Amino acid sequence: MAVRLDGAALAAKLKERIRREAAALPTPPMLAVVLAGEDPASLVYVRGKERDCAECGIRTRTHRLPAEVSQEELLVLVDTLNRDEDVDGILVQLPLPMGLDSRPILHALSPEKDVDCFHPLNAGLLALGEPRFLPCTPAGVLELLDAYAIPIQGRRCLILGRSLLVGRPLAQLLTTRNGTVTLCHSKTQDLPALTRQADILVSAAGRPDLVTADMVKPGAAVVDVAMNRGADGRLTGDVDFPAVESVAGFLTPVPGGVGPMTRTCLLQNVLRAARFRRNC
Ligand code: NAP
Repeated sequence: MAVRLDGAALAAKLKERIRREAAALPTPPMLAVVLAGEDPASLVYVRGKERDCAECGIRTRTHRLPAEVSQEELLVLVDTLNRDEDVDGILVQLPLPMGLDSRPILHALSPEKDVDCFHPLNAGLLALGEPRFLPCTPAGVLELLDAYAIPIQGRRCLILGRSLLVGRPLAQLLTTRNGTVTLCHSKTQDLPALTRQADILVSAAGRPDLVTADMVKPGAAVVDVAMNRGADGRLTGDVDFPAVESVAGFLTPVPGGVGPMTRTCLLQNVLRAARFRRNC
């Protein structure tokens, strides 16, 4: 039976350390959140981030804007937050309402306050292997592997999904750690033949039951990043959990695996931004 990679427990431990380190700063770090519109999932995510920050002694200021906000108004707000000396990190909650283009908004963020690591400068630094911030979900996956002493160096790592948010930056981080990485996507052919070779298999495709037991190498570490909402409202990943549990060596639950780690890595980035800006 696979060992469960317990992201919730690890996140609680890491948050305790973040709380201590935030308390040691002259003033508590501050995260500004930009929330446009009323997307129900976004409202839940922002509430969760506000709560996480409060638990760790990080201040938050959420700027709530109507769905009709214009691109120019958003750019003006980002510019104001960039200049605000009290703000250490800025997070623009995605997706933005229809009609708004997120790219120019994310590119307008000060790279020093870009705690989601979306700015081209930060993405470039990551690609060079000199990251300023670590992208939250990929960093959370690595923290989880490290906490359970799962070796990366020399291991075959396969990622399902090549998004800018998860798959690509994770491929870079695993490569930096000397993993041998295969990045798969919807056009990849004969997926099972590839996945069966993986010592570390990460699924971030957003396709329920994509990963079946016959696709998993016995003893592999299987990390399920996906969060799929079923018709009944239940959250599931990409992995057929009950079947894969008896083949894999390690397996993340959904929920309670990568999700809490992503949230914790955001807090780490806010702390890091505060330290950069205050030279401490
Ligand atoms: P995305 O932008 O939609 O990307 C999905 C990727 O999966 C694409 O590269 C796509 O290939 C690939 N894909 C789709 N079907 C596939 C298949 N049958 N076989 C192989 N690859 C396939 O999604 P995302 O933003 O990266 O998010 C992925 C999942 O992770 C979602 O469920 C999301 O909710 C979840 N997520 C979780 C967290 C967390 O904290 N746990 C954080 C972020 C995202 P193409 O490029 O060819 O289209």
